[in-house]
Amino acid sequence: MKLGIPRERREGERRVAATPETVKQLVALGVQILLEEDAGAAAGYPDLAYSQAGAHIVPGLDPAQLDVLAHVRPLDPDTARSLKRGAVSVGLASPSSELPTVQALADAGVTSFALELVPRISRAQSMDALSSQALVAGYRCVLEAAIRLPRFFPLYMTAAGTVPPARVLVLGAGVAGLQAIGTAKRLGARVFANDIRPASADEVASMGGTFIRLDLETAEAAGGYARQLSSDAGTRQRQLLAPHVAQADVLITTAAVPGRRAPLLVTREMVQGMRAGSVVVDLAAESGGNVEGAVPGQDVPIPTADGSGHVTLVGLKDAPSAMASDASRLYAKNVANLLVLMVRDGALVPDFSDEVIAGACLTHDGTVRHQPTADLLA
Ligand code: NAD
Repeated sequence: MKLGIPRERREGERRVAATPETVKQLVALGVQILLEEDAGAAAGYPDLAYSQAGAHIVPGLDPAQLDVLAHVRPLDPDTARSLKRGAVSVGLASPSSELPTVQALADAGVTSFALELVPRISRAQSMDALSSQALVAGYRCVLEAAIRLPRFFPLYMTAAGTVPPARVLVLGAGVAGLQAIGTAKRLGARVFANDIRPASADEVASMGGTFIRLDLETAEAAGGYARQLSSDAGTRQRQLLAPHVAQADVLITTAAVPGRRAPLLVTREMVQGMRAGSVVVDLAAESGGNVEGAVPGQDVPIPTADGSGHVTLVGLKDAPSAMASDASRLYAKNVANLLVLMVRDGALVPDFSDEVIAGACLTHDGTVRHQPTADLLA
């Protein structure tokens, strides 16, 4: 079985779908790995390390020659079409926003597995790329804030005077938010957080944060995910959050509702109510933004209402790519663990009676297996 690892083509993408460690693991199972030259270079993994692990380095991959293609970002429709009938692809697929690729995969008879669709059950945790990459993003967004804040995070008691700790507010306490809380806490900040799922209060406390309770309906849907707040509840949430936002030196937003545009939690007016020099990092900037005015990949200065200066609004983009080495280490493990579940005697044999395999399958045998995506294409 020939497994191809491409050099990622999307602008800003530095991750890679295999590391020398996972190559070794897959080669031991009888898989032949073809790695496109420099595929891991941007993530700090040189070709030599891959070839020492047993991969064959090739100047270019011919998708038509592969049995399996493992990737990071969604494939483009042309690549999907050039895979052979019955071939397998494994990687992030963004099914709801990459419909032409999904259609191309189905038309080409490719069996595609989307890592976003891996069921979030205990047995599949080692394949959960949403969590592994959210962990990286949650850590990174705090560093992005810290570097821009013209203040310390920790309390300092020095001979020259006492510096109070920074106050950090995290909105959205899923995987990324909890990592942000933990990271800000380790840097010595006082950390506060809010989420609309009731279970998150204990999780915030376990990371050392103080949960802010708002007098709001809770909004938990099946599987422990959030559901979208009604428009009235959303307005009320913003009103109740405004004083907390005004007190924060750093605001980090990570709120998301599966399959929907990111909820707007913070208006421009709320940002203008913060102190000059404060920093806002919107991790949801690429999926619609939790903060009004956030632009993916840009720092936007927002003048404060009191005219004393500005707040820096950071629209974070490609956050896991900024830490490509460890992001790839975790991502590649997620990919390899899903493949290991399907490899028998060196061949890929997906067992669709396994709920992890069935759940992660996007297209198979000419059809779109993931019903919400099939509905979008209908
Ligand atoms: P996510 O990225 O979908 O959303 C991030 C957070 O935003 C969530 O905590 C959500 O409740 C919150 N949110 C949505 N609307 C909001 C609003 N208006 N105001 C404030 N917060 C809002 O979430 P995620 O990180 O993917 O985690 C979602 C759930 O899945 C959690 O319950 C998590 O514990 C669970 N999970 C389970 C597993 C597993 O069992 N293997 C793995 C990962 C996550």
